[in-house]
Amino acid sequence: MASYRGHLTFAGLLGAGYGSLALLEGNGDWGPALIAAGLTTLGGLLPDLDSDSGVPVRELFGAAAAVVPILLFDRVKDLCQQSTEQTLFVLAVLYLFIRYVLSYIFKSFTVHRGMFHSVPALLIAGLATYLLYPSDDVRRRLFLSGATMLGFLSHLILDEIYSVDFLGARLHPNKYAGSALKFFSKSWLATLTTYLLLGFLAWRAWLDGR
Ligand SMILES: [Zn+2]
Repeated sequence: MASYRGHLTFAGLLGAGYGSLALLEGNGDWGPALIAAGLTTLGGLLPDLDSDSGVPVRELFGAAAAVVPILLFDRVKDLCQQSTEQTLFVLAVLYLFIRYVLSYIFKSFTVHRGMFHSVPALLIAGLATYLLYPSDDVRRRLFLSGATMLGFLSHLILDEIYSVDFLGARLHPNKYAGSALKFFSKSWLATLTTYLLLGFLAWRAWLDGR
């Protein structure tokens, strides 16, 4: 357990349970249920973005690069004054940016089991879902951000229980690595960056809710 497959299975099962809560509303709309299940599963894989061990990380960045432009489609179109060509161009640049630039920055600056495996990172993932989700329905956005955080939490708890990493190999903790459910790491820079990002997203979410 607590390998890539372990996280995928556990978060997937949680997602099925959490997603089916959306069906209790009884309006026959299965969309939110499946999105919630997907977000829980994705949330369960997210913390290991800091692991440099290859394929799954590339897949996650590939998935994010594809999904984020879709989520931002309406907003970018507004920014581009409804011009389809400009919108497509901006979204393509965004795709390349996430796929290559962001993933590169990420790999260079993160340490496996560093601040990405922490409670503030969990909140960042939840806030990012809340902010990115293209809907005016606050309840639905909260529900989906809960899905991401549930998956993320399942990952942290599994990692905490099993000290085995991403691909099932024994973990050789880096000196910056600590408990998966931590609030601070030994690197003050990583800790500061994490809390600045958290503060910024919380501020944006607060502005959004007014
Ligand atoms: Zn992990």
